[in-house]
Amino acid sequence: MKKITTDLAIIAAGPAGLAAAITGAEKGLNVTVFEKSSVPGGTSNMGMGPFAVESRIQKEAMIGLTKEEAFKLMMDYTHWQVDARMVRDYFWKSADTIQWLEAMGVRFAGALKYYPEGHATWHVVQPADGSHPGPRCASTMMKLMYERALELGVTFYFDTPAVKLTRDGEDIVGLVAKGKDGEEYEVEAAATLIATGGFGDNPEMIKEHCNFTFGKDMFNFRVPGLVGDGLRMAWEAGAGKGNMEMEMIMSTGHVHMLAGYVYTIAMQQPRSLIVNKEGKRVMDESVLQNTAVTANVSVRQSDRCLYVVSTDSHFDLYRKQGVDWVNGVIKADYTADAETWMQKAMTQFPGEAVIADTPEEAARLMGIDVETFMKTVAEYNESCALHYDDLFCKDRRFLTPLEGKKFYILRLVPGAYGTLGGIKVDSHYQVLTPDTKKLYGLFAAGSDVCDLYAGTYLYYLPGNTMGFALNSGRLAAEQAAEFINSLETVA
Ligand SMILES: Cc1cc2nc3c(=O)[nH]c(=O)nc-3n(C[C@H](O)[C@H](O)[C@H](O)COP(=O)(O)OP(=O)(O)OC[C@H]3O[C@@H](n4cnc5c(N)ncnc54)[C@H](O)[C@@H]3O)c2cc1C
Repeated sequence: MKKITTDLAIIAAGPAGLAAAITGAEKGLNVTVFEKSSVPGGTSNMGMGPFAVESRIQKEAMIGLTKEEAFKLMMDYTHWQVDARMVRDYFWKSADTIQWLEAMGVRFAGALKYYPEGHATWHVVQPADGSHPGPRCASTMMKLMYERALELGVTFYFDTPAVKLTRDGEDIVGLVAKGKDGEEYEVEAAATLIATGGFGDNPEMIKEHCNFTFGKDMFNFRVPGLVGDGLRMAWEAGAGKGNMEMEMIMSTGHVHMLAGYVYTIAMQQPRSLIVNKEGKRVMDESVLQNTAVTANVSVRQSDRCLYVVSTDSHFDLYRKQGVDWVNGVIKADYTADAETWMQKAMTQFPGEAVIADTPEEAARLMGIDVETFMKTVAEYNESCALHYDDLFCKDRRFLTPLEGKKFYILRLVPGAYGTLGGIKVDSHYQVLTPDTKKLYGLFAAGSDVCDLYAGTYLYYLPGNTMGFALNSGRLAAEQAAEFINSLETVA
């Protein structure tokens, strides 16, 4: 057993853990980080960038959203079911966090929206190699944060997961971690901070706490190692349970795993028709751009799925004039191979994707009620002819009839970036017991405590979970430093 003494022990080196480590070290603390995987950066290595409001970048781009407006939007959207102080402190800190990251050498390509109705809050990281920003570009930021932490003297142990917290009376006084070689590390720490990113790689926990079955009605990203260690350790040490949910988005299930969502984007356009298993329309298809909201629609349907229907005429139109929905991630040229990918998907996953010569045949092969579906298609085509959707008020620009020589159907199922919440904390990231008493010396940040959306990720303010991870990491470390200083004052 190796013994380590440190001021601040941090469990994990994702964005929350790294932000906390840098902040702790900037405040003069001796900081030690224990990370389960062999690299820093966590899930953010897959992402593109964090939320901020009123940043220098936004001001220079004449983006006028204020933090007050963003706060009101968030609180209205969530019906004030979330911690208003936590939202406020996070939003008010977010612009400073962008400047703080820039001082470490992080460059941002700009502040983007995710879809037209949203706000430009998504600070997309400029990749180090100068390439166009796209999926995984935030890994550049994670590398620079790690280098900054090293520069400040933070000690890292990789391949060394924390396995339990050490409790002494009402206080958490450190942790036990296990190295790759099996050696145990007994860590004595004035304060400990958990940031293990949730339980997205733990189907049993997802079933128990969120009631989804991975591979059936849930196709979330499973980032290896995110099995809920932080939640389990905190609960075992006496912490209360916080609200737990999936960070829901719409997925194409197994097809996504085959093709990646980018190749099926031609299907996921507002001109497509969407029906449920009974063959009925259940939404304005242009809402599909808000992937979190679409997931909500699908959860209400039989088998928790939707079917998106398109035709070769739609595809021809996209080839001529481009797709209607593109953004920083979804590029117009991703649609070029759509038919090839639909063909591959149909062969490998019958029942999840199909190409047929008639709408009847396509619906039959997908197990959709054919009679109702054909009625729906006729009604929908009539709405297109009238340029008016009496059912769901779909924007008339997207009312293109479902006609053609080939009919494509793709099944849509709930997915998720990961999980949210689980450890009960107060507005200052202090971990609490089930009866709301402080577990002194224990703080938590990032996805392990993220309970900000009241069930539906707020796509109007994109970049929100990475933004929360970074800002909550900073704020939690500031609280931990204050706590450590108070111990020293008492001593
Ligand atoms: C494909 C994809 C794209 C995304 N893009 C964006 C985006 O552009 N913007 C945005 O806002 N959000 C995005 N997200 C979400 C965002 O990446 C996460 O919300 C964020 O990374 C969460 O940060 P975290 O520090 O809480 O946890 P994570 O980043 O998940 O890091 C958790 C860390 O904990 C470690 N760990 C686990 N158990 C232990 C243990 N026992 N001991 C030690 N270490 C442990 C893990 O190895 C990991 O390194 C994306 C997610 C995905 C899947």
